Amino acid sequence: MGTTKDAPVRKNDIVTLDIEGLTQDGAGVGRADGFALFVQGALPGERVRAKVLKVKKQYGYAKMLELLQASPDRVEAPCPIYGKCGGCQLQHMDYRAQLEWKRRHVVDCLTRIGKLRVADEGAAGDGGAGAAEGIVMHPTIGMADPWRYRNKAQVPIGMAQADSEDGAAGSLIGGFYAQHSHRIVDMDACLIQHERNDAAVRLVKEIGTRLGIRAYDETTGRGLLRHVVVRTGFATGETMVVLVTNGTRIPRVDELVEGIRKALPDVRSIVQNVNTRNTNVIFGDETRVLWGSDVIYDELDGIRFAISARSFYQVNPAQTVTLYRKAAEYAGLTGRETVIDAYCGIGTISLFLARHAGKVYGVEEVPEAVEDARRNAALNGMHHVAFEVGLAEEVMPRWREEGVAADVIVVDPPRKGCDAKLLETIIAMQPKRVVYVSCNPATLARDLAVLEAGGFRTVEVQPVDMFPHTGHVECCVLLVRK
Ligand code: SAH
Repeated sequence: MGTTKDAPVRKNDIVTLDIEGLTQDGAGVGRADGFALFVQGALPGERVRAKVLKVKKQYGYAKMLELLQASPDRVEAPCPIYGKCGGCQLQHMDYRAQLEWKRRHVVDCLTRIGKLRVADEGAAGDGGAGAAEGIVMHPTIGMADPWRYRNKAQVPIGMAQADSEDGAAGSLIGGFYAQHSHRIVDMDACLIQHERNDAAVRLVKEIGTRLGIRAYDETTGRGLLRHVVVRTGFATGETMVVLVTNGTRIPRVDELVEGIRKALPDVRSIVQNVNTRNTNVIFGDETRVLWGSDVIYDELDGIRFAISARSFYQVNPAQTVTLYRKAAEYAGLTGRETVIDAYCGIGTISLFLARHAGKVYGVEEVPEAVEDARRNAALNGMHHVAFEVGLAEEVMPRWREEGVAADVIVVDPPRKGCDAKLLETIIAMQPKRVVYVSCNPATLARDLAVLEAGGFRTVEVQPVDMFPHTGHVECCVLLVRK
């Protein structure tokens, strides 16, 4: 730190790089005279000729000009818009290799950020005995068929320009934002998306165009349709279509609803969400049912869930079941325990664990999600579950004061990880086990270090591939009180 030595490369230099690492954004990392350069699309083990685009103090960016030596893990990305869309980062890497890289990425975070000891690869497989020598780090559980796995599409809508290839000027387009911009690029299909979600989005664009509905324009603040959000329950086949609009009135709304229902008979719910703010946040505060139910249902491992437009619901149902079963296994319940599920969303993990627990408390900050959670508990006849709206870091200390004693605490925080106050409360509550479900290995590692210092031991880590072809890794972690 602190050296102000000039970088050994300059903008527009042409360099030959041996790629050693891979970032979560799918950039290969190579070094020119020790100086780290990120090369989009290059894989570890490859040698590339690249042009330096940008040089910062500690690192820079380069663009691949030529692949001099390809990795055996390189595959042809099957998606025609891969590279433009930005939604996937690893389609050019063999799926097996993706899974291995994800495990390695978690190990790197645990050791570098958390300063934790991971049992060596050999010891990882042989269970209990290995645990004393370090954390047992399992191979990533992948999908047998890692395509079309998403149950939710969230598509920004725009207008085709006169000079575009996306259709006649004035027709609705929708797909994704071109990289580093807010220009919407039209898209017909997304290979990681449920087919019906793709079909529903195409349909709304078609019918909307016919009815003369205008897309919202974020620069002028005019126009109506901002986003189309579609969710399909994989187990039930039910679909919800959400139209996010700038303003309440949708012209010829009856024809729109009729058109969607006719073409897609499995649609159970058509909902409008009003968002008039000039913001990147998709949803506004007001949600109204245009037709049908305000929720759709889905099932995970035999448990039924009602899902409303704005609730968080895991996007990959197949892998969610894998992940939650692992969480249940790590919780080690016998039927008598008291469990806290912090960051409980619509109560998915809570209900999974409630089947084997004496009492479950869930806490979640989004009121609609808690409403769903309560409805879901009733739906499944589970009366030993209680949910509360609030920040986990505020509600849990209060529970503790009220005398709630948890045998197991499960946390499933957003990417930023657990609040420090929440970790403090966990340490003070002294549960026998903590199960940490994480979507971000970096904050996971940081939080594990805190829990270790507070008297817990990290026993094992199970990465689960919830988002194939992207750089995301989900982990389920077991900690026990020392
Ligand atoms: N366990 C659920 C949800 C996990 S996503 C599932 O698997 O489906 C994380 C959830 O935490 C979201 O529902 C989000 O609204 C909620 N959340 C984020 N910060 C929070 C906080 N400080 N306190 C309580 N809930 C929070």
